[in-house]
Amino acid sequence: MQPFIPDRAFFEPRALDYPIGRDIYRRLQDLGVEIRYTTSHNRVTGIPGDDDLQRYRNAKRTLVVGVRRSLEFDTSRPSAEYAIPIATGCIGHCHYCYLQTTLGARPYVRVYVNIPEILERAHGYIDERRPRITRFEAACTSDPLSLEHLTGNLRRLIEFMGQEEYGRLRFVTKYDLVDSLLDARHNGHTRIRFSVNSDYVVRNFEANTASLEERLAAARRVAEAGYPLGFIIAPIYLYEGWREEYEEMVRRVSRAMPPDRRQGVTFELIQHRFTRPAKRVIEKRYPKTKLDLDESRRKYKWGRYGIGKLFARTWRAIGSCPGPWRIFGPSPFGASLSPRSKSGSGGKPLAKFRGCRLVFLDQIDPKTAETRAVKKWYHEP
Ligand code: SF4
Repeated sequence: MQPFIPDRAFFEPRALDYPIGRDIYRRLQDLGVEIRYTTSHNRVTGIPGDDDLQRYRNAKRTLVVGVRRSLEFDTSRPSAEYAIPIATGCIGHCHYCYLQTTLGARPYVRVYVNIPEILERAHGYIDERRPRITRFEAACTSDPLSLEHLTGNLRRLIEFMGQEEYGRLRFVTKYDLVDSLLDARHNGHTRIRFSVNSDYVVRNFEANTASLEERLAAARRVAEAGYPLGFIIAPIYLYEGWREEYEEMVRRVSRAMPPDRRQGVTFELIQHRFTRPAKRVIEKRYPKTKLDLDESRRKYKWGRYGIGKLFARTWRAIGSCPGPWRIFGPSPFGASLSPRSKSGSGGKPLAKFRGCRLVFLDQIDPKTAETRAVKKWYHEP
């Protein structure tokens, strides 16, 4: 995929006190990007557009370079102990993305330049928990790989974590610009996970992201560079023909991975869900979306903050589905993408990933022993 070049950038003047801020400034200048200033990365005004929709689209093409003020990290369960903040906002246009609602009226793309302070804080968190391992998720509020060619911040995190005996980094991406990370001194402490999905989902709901083939080619390069690797299949979305297309997608993942790099690959699965506030935002921002937001076909569950989520009945569909699809089950964890035939005896496998680990994230229930088992492997490096 072509690297992202913003239409305009805003700098907090203080960002230029940092070498990383000055580097980004020079890079944007060389690219001919229009540069303006803002007093705060939290209050950017002047993004053009005649209406809300146009302003939203322009905001996604606006880079804001600032200094992260709060150095208290949010938690990021179950994926990691902490979310490490290096960027907020994303250039992608995934219709189902939770950033639609969590970022509210500030969908522009923010990157932070005080990385040494952020890493110092991360070191403090690692120290507090030592000798236990502390994991940091770098993609909670953004897809930082899509910005790496402008900031270089992921590489800084990877090399920092490579030197931390008790620190681990993980991030997930729908992009493919991994080349600048391949020779980073990661020391096996960073797990890079690629978000993959069926053709239909990528085509209809994931605009301005890398194609599945590009993501898989990047996954292969990352695996060959010795990084721990994972795939996130999310959201699993039901539509006419979903089983065949998801099966084909699993085959493509399998074909893309060199056999000697399949050990220890993780798979995380999340079904599609939405909240009612998210539905309102999606319908406004993507008025022609094909995303099925029909509440009558969903199961309602109470979520955090008193906001209910509407789930597809995916797991039941998967669990009852005969044939190769059962590579994903029936156990919510401890299963592997191992051969399983339509008849249950022999047959050509869809994918072979020995020693891989698999979790249905939606089935994590904090009260159960199963959850503890899931966490145990999930939290390995
Ligand atoms: S790439 Fe990820 S973070 Fe970006 S819009 Fe899509 S789902 Fe959201």
